[in-house]
Amino acid sequence: MTTSAAGTGSRAPSVLEAPPPAFSPDQIADIAERLFGVGGRAVNLGSERDQTYLIEEDGGPGAVLKISNSGEDPAVLDLELEAILHIAGVDPSLPVARPRVARPRVTRPRVARPHAAGTAAVIHDAGLGDHAGPDGGPASEAYRPTVQGSDGTHFVRLFDRMVGHTAAASELDDDALRDFGATQARLNLALRSFFHPAAGRELLWNLKHATKLRPLLAYIADARRRELVEAVLDRYDQRVAPAWSSLRAQVVHGDLSLDNVLVDDRGRITGIVDFGDTAHTAQIADLAVSLASLLRGRTGQDAFRSARLVIDGYMSGSPLEPGELAVLGDLVSARMAAIVAISAWRVARYPENAQYIQAWDDDSWALLELFAGYGPDAVAREFGAPRPPVATAPLSARRRQLLGSALTDLTYRRPVHVVRGQGVWLYEADGSRLLDAYNNVPVVGHCHPRVTEAVVRQTRAVNTHARYLYEPLVELAERLVGSMPAGADLDTVTLVNSGSEANDLAWRIATATSGHSGGLVTAFAYHGVSSVIADLSPEEWPEGFRPTNVETIAAPGTGPSVKAEMERALGVLSERGAGLAATYIDGGFTSDGILIPASTDVAEIVDQTQRAGGLFIADEVQAGHGRLGRDLWAFVGYGITPDVVTLGKPMGNGYPVAAVITRKELMDRFAATTEFFSTFGGNPVAAQAALAVLDVIEDERIVEHASRVGGVLIAALADLQGRFPAVAEVRGQGLLVGIELSTTTDPRRPDPELAQRVVEAMRERGVLIGRTGRHSNVLKIRPPLVFAQEHAERLVDTLAVVLDEQTVARR
Ligand code: PMP
Repeated sequence: MTTSAAGTGSRAPSVLEAPPPAFSPDQIADIAERLFGVGGRAVNLGSERDQTYLIEEDGGPGAVLKISNSGEDPAVLDLELEAILHIAGVDPSLPVARPRVARPRVTRPRVARPHAAGTAAVIHDAGLGDHAGPDGGPASEAYRPTVQGSDGTHFVRLFDRMVGHTAAASELDDDALRDFGATQARLNLALRSFFHPAAGRELLWNLKHATKLRPLLAYIADARRRELVEAVLDRYDQRVAPAWSSLRAQVVHGDLSLDNVLVDDRGRITGIVDFGDTAHTAQIADLAVSLASLLRGRTGQDAFRSARLVIDGYMSGSPLEPGELAVLGDLVSARMAAIVAISAWRVARYPENAQYIQAWDDDSWALLELFAGYGPDAVAREFGAPRPPVATAPLSARRRQLLGSALTDLTYRRPVHVVRGQGVWLYEADGSRLLDAYNNVPVVGHCHPRVTEAVVRQTRAVNTHARYLYEPLVELAERLVGSMPAGADLDTVTLVNSGSEANDLAWRIATATSGHSGGLVTAFAYHGVSSVIADLSPEEWPEGFRPTNVETIAAPGTGPSVKAEMERALGVLSERGAGLAATYIDGGFTSDGILIPASTDVAEIVDQTQRAGGLFIADEVQAGHGRLGRDLWAFVGYGITPDVVTLGKPMGNGYPVAAVITRKELMDRFAATTEFFSTFGGNPVAAQAALAVLDVIEDERIVEHASRVGGVLIAALADLQGRFPAVAEVRGQGLLVGIELSTTTDPRRPDPELAQRVVEAMRERGVLIGRTGRHSNVLKIRPPLVFAQEHAERLVDTLAVVLDEQTVARR
């Protein structure tokens, strides 16, 4: 389909200006024999401006001879040649028709027999054996000897004959469509390091130059159709042209349409021919060209469905960027516009060739009509363009309608409608930016590139379950065991999917190994959602509910001494006939209002638990992964040795992954009566996410960072305590901080309403925090650990303004 850009005065004389060569089949057979040593009958394959013939070799594979138009630029032929040789080197199994070197046999210049039309052909002695390329291979001239026709000199090339047949779009089934996309991706990948100066030539078919189609509109006679194409070009100007310079660009085939591929009986590509449109352009433009061809004859949703299968195939080999998908629909439209506009122009010039020129017009018009019916934005989305965010109010109404009442509550009166996150920032649909001082899951920052890439790459490689052998799970288990304190014997890992599941498994290990059924937790603890763990989560207990096998102790520092509390609680359990199976402790006592007790208090809990025959379970779901800034694991800071450690929320920075780490001996006893397997637990992607999180924590020195910034934050908040009587206490460690709010007159009287107003007002001022504690009067500050000093300052400044506003307003 090579057509030089209209009116651009490209350096080479337009091949369209010179008549096609006119050698007879006999002469062509003769040329093939003499120049390439391939003898056989010459059968016309059809070509608009060159002569392309199949040479049917007796007893041989045959070959395709191309005699170029006398206007052909040798630099362009070199571009084609080198592109093909490059592909053959990078991806040798891609079925690209390869050119052959002319026979290095020196012959006298010889006048071929005149054919019926009386054209004489002179086959040149090119002295081919003398040419050598810079790498010692044949020089490009060796691939393109010349023949002399009556109208001038013509380059001649001989290509391998590819097996297969041409197919109509309707013959390709879904698998063939995907295969087409995948093959195209390989072709693009094979060319991505290729350079040739002639690739910068201007071709009207290159969608990079789509604006140059505008003068051709005049050739479209039907006014409505002209408007259709005009609208496509307008849209191109508005949406594609401004984005062009940010699209990935390279040399591409340029016309990987069904006209230029051969397929087997299943529609799989067996041959790629005709690099005549090879040029430098946007990578995505190459896919648009094939799509326009593959959609021919397809109607309605089937066209878009088919396109998506091709795109899937492409992405299986080379993922596309959102910016590329955003313009793909417009580029497919532009390609169809190019087909009909160029065809209208050329038919006016060469009416005798109308049938060939207009071959794809009807299908292209039909697709243009189809697309116009949908509208360009809808078409863009059908081709995978990212959707613009929907409005917040209707979205929350839809959500309310579909989710059960247990889940419908959103945090904040004005819902946080997130569309994007980065580091400590969340971005809303309306474009506003919120400082995230609340979410502990994105521990190394929202969308950390290392974690994101780890997840994406492993997803592309394979994701399966833990009954198959793969390295990431084993490596993660080794890393986790290696992160436990020496001598703790915490040497056995089970990977699961959530903190709840981890705590649930811990409970099963505890009951199985202790033979007991009692559990101890702090007064307002939260450990998860499963039935068993909900029973161990008093924060969630309905009024008056208390499972008989569970007793609570006051969180250290909030009631009687820990020693007395433990003795009392164990007594209560035994009165109820339940020996102690396990005590669960969240190292940050988050739900109890955020507390960092003395190590001796925590050690006392461990000691009494173990003496009662129970297991001490360090629930690190909140406080682990460096949150407290002292150590990677909170329990290490308390100097204790748990029997079981459970990890969760931050472990995959948002990818669901959790773990139970215990001693082998305990696991063996559990396993004696139970087989445990969780389908997603420790899947390769989850394991890679968790490994990436551990890597980033180390590389970015996150634990030290949390310690330092947390120190600054807590000190600055403590200053607020002096300024605002409602701030009864500031406590915490690292980046887990609680601010207890009380009435301004009595620091012992919790003020949950004030806490709520503060949280809402902070959100309105762009800072996300939460509330916790039995009375919900403790402001909960628990940001991603990449929270920096500047963020801490912003948080404190905003809080000061809000406290001022809220307490003054109330007085
Ligand atoms: N333990 C603690 C201390 C938690 O804070 C949570 C969740 N907030 C869980 C366990 C349960 O984790 P998940 O929601 O992932 O099941």
